[in-house]
Amino acid sequence: MCASQSIHIRTLSLSKPTGMQQLISRAPSAMASFPCSRARSGLCVWPGMRQLCLRKNLLYGFIRFLSTPFKTLRGASRSLKVAQFCSVSNMSSTLQIELVPCLKDNYAYLLHDVDTGTVGVVDPSEAVPVIDALSRKNRNLTYILNTHHHYDHTGGNVELKARYGAKVIGSGADRDRIPGIDIVLNDGDKWMFAGHEVLVMETPGHTRGHISFYFPGSRAIFTGDTLFSLSCGKLFEGTPEQMLSSLKKIMSLPDDTDIYCGHEYTLSNSKFALSVEPNNEALQSYAAHVAHLRSKRLPTIPATLKMEKSCNPFLRTSSVEIRQSLNIPATANDAEALGVIRQAKDNF
Ligand SMILES: [Zn+2]
Repeated sequence: MCASQSIHIRTLSLSKPTGMQQLISRAPSAMASFPCSRARSGLCVWPGMRQLCLRKNLLYGFIRFLSTPFKTLRGASRSLKVAQFCSVSNMSSTLQIELVPCLKDNYAYLLHDVDTGTVGVVDPSEAVPVIDALSRKNRNLTYILNTHHHYDHTGGNVELKARYGAKVIGSGADRDRIPGIDIVLNDGDKWMFAGHEVLVMETPGHTRGHISFYFPGSRAIFTGDTLFSLSCGKLFEGTPEQMLSSLKKIMSLPDDTDIYCGHEYTLSNSKFALSVEPNNEALQSYAAHVAHLRSKRLPTIPATLKMEKSCNPFLRTSSVEIRQSLNIPATANDAEALGVIRQAKDNF
């Protein structure tokens, strides 16, 4: 699908609002009002709500400046001031991202554009937790975005589509195995989610049709089972070369990109990472932080790309320490090293 078709689909979706959207008087979109709306959004963390408020209007620079310290702090004490930032969201176009724990260790993500009331969900492995999260805020569901076809990412598609009339979006390569697929996107496609640009990146390796959804205006990427915090997906349908190439695409994004992956695997991943690179001080401190978060049953997601580059063994295939730990020769290329690291992780 080309970009113009994608925009056409968006126009249709806005001109024929359904359910909850009909009840919402649409505020003037920041995209229409402010040509700079694609600039880096301000971002604030609201830990109690597990929610990010991502702004895309002229205030973004100011809010970004003010909110940056809150993004890096951990603890409840910051929530009041952050909530104050969020309380001005009716002045701007805002993308909120909410984690929805599903199954044993999956995350679905609710995307909510405050201006239009448009809601999407990424990788709903089951319907009930998503319905509960939507019902709590009396919201409708317009889009279902799937990174790949596996049941623990698409298991809720059919029920959610039937209940809300949501459109299912996925990779063209998976058109025959994503339940209820309506809109097919391919590598390089640009799609608009309620005024937020979404870049589709083909990221095969875990499966052959795997894609990631990158929201450049919010510096957020949904990586499914390609990149996890401190690991990558198992190579079910791809080669180490393909996974390396997919990971390199993600690594080319800005360092402060937030990584929203499909599973809460970070704690167990940290144990493997430490076993192959025990002297990595950034990893030591991140692993301790992750253990602290999990001891309080808090999510470790989103991770930042910068931290992953410093700590994730699958993004560190040239690390001398990792290669020595796994007897990977210095002459082995990065794909060969990734293959050995993946095999070691599979057997860990
Ligand atoms: Zn999978």
